[in-house]
Amino acid sequence: MSQIPHLNGFSIKNNEWHAENVPLSAIAEQYGTPAYVYSKKALTDAFNAYEKACIKPNGQRRAQVHYAMKANSNLAILNVFAKLGAGFDIVSAGELARVLAAGGSAKKVVFSGVGKSKSEMIAALKAGVKCFNLESIPELSRLNEVAASLGMKAPISLRVNPDVDPKTHPYISTGLKGNKFGIAYDEVIKTYQAAAQMSHCEIVGIDCHIGSQITEISPYLDALDRVLDLIKALADQGIQIHHLDIGGGLGISYTSETPPAITEFANTLLDHIEAKGFGHLEVLFEPGRSLVGNAGLLLTTIEYLKPGETKNFCIVDAAMNDLMRPAMYDAYHAIVPVKLSNQSKANSVSYDIVGPICESGDWLGKDRELAVQPGDYLAILSAGAYGFTMSSNYNTRGRAAEVMVDGDQVHIIRERETIESLFANEKLLPN
Ligand SMILES: *Cc1c(COP(=O)(O)O)cnc(C)c1O
Repeated sequence: MSQIPHLNGFSIKNNEWHAENVPLSAIAEQYGTPAYVYSKKALTDAFNAYEKACIKPNGQRRAQVHYAMKANSNLAILNVFAKLGAGFDIVSAGELARVLAAGGSAKKVVFSGVGKSKSEMIAALKAGVKCFNLESIPELSRLNEVAASLGMKAPISLRVNPDVDPKTHPYISTGLKGNKFGIAYDEVIKTYQAAAQMSHCEIVGIDCHIGSQITEISPYLDALDRVLDLIKALADQGIQIHHLDIGGGLGISYTSETPPAITEFANTLLDHIEAKGFGHLEVLFEPGRSLVGNAGLLLTTIEYLKPGETKNFCIVDAAMNDLMRPAMYDAYHAIVPVKLSNQSKANSVSYDIVGPICESGDWLGKDRELAVQPGDYLAILSAGAYGFTMSSNYNTRGRAAEVMVDGDQVHIIRERETIESLFANEKLLPN
């Protein structure tokens, strides 16, 4: 058996890739491809790695994980985390409905996002969410009005843009001055003062989220120091902050990245907060990718091999509609043959792994050395985060099936979409 350290839950046994105890080829044969495969053990272990830092040896809780569910919002995954005690970070009323359907508690929900609509605010207030993370004065005013119309008080936190460079991809960097996110650092105190005047808002926290796929701790410590300075300045003005939400963004290893381990990362931040004299604050983490990214893969079948003059193409049945990250962010995912028996350096060929969609951007991997035949299965690794949730029906392709493996059991957690369902809501013009 061979185990790649960051791929807890997936390993090679008897020359074949397995999800926990189940060969991936058996899953492909039973459920078809493309299919997302998740490991319950990998999800659980990642969550518990945060918990290890969140709960002190004496049993006292010093922080709470709020899973950023936009990374993967399948109900079964939410249910696994809810049972482990997770809260949730949501960005829409749709996500709130999912949390409730999956057995999560609204009291452990924080509502983030830069453009909350009126109806979303109403839904979240009625459900009784823990906190609204707000990003502008107009949003604050709107929430105050909505809460007043319901005769309620909205618990609020302001999202600070700490203006630190997370050193990640520009599309997923969110805490720099030029980003659309958060309240500019110099405006924060003023905005809290405005919030303090609003009779239907109650200030409970402060939050920041500096980006995603961050592989170093130093940008977090910089952001933390800047936010702690604000908490102190606010206290001097008589504005008390009860919770500090540090956002998500911890990176994972897709190939050779070496992000800090989850427990070490969380402990470093929590110890830093205590050392600076803010141990009384309730701390929230909002991890997405680091909980689910390496707990899932995308299983696909090779349709054709197409040799070319300058490139060889390996055409598979998964495509950019199933996994957008390569096309959108130029992201790298390791791609492995499910059965390794035929692999030898001698007969391997360099391929671009591409899907059937009519776009040159429809690729999943470039220049990969493989010894494969049509009909072979490939696994696209580290696809648990921003995989299925970003998938679409482009080219009228039904979205993939999703399964979760638990030991030697395989559970279907989302049926493959049928073709008919894709146009069920469409109408012809009357004659
Ligand atoms: C996307 C997002 C997260 C999660 O980010 P990851 O990189 O997946 O950990 C957390 N908080 C907010 C506000 C987000 O938008």
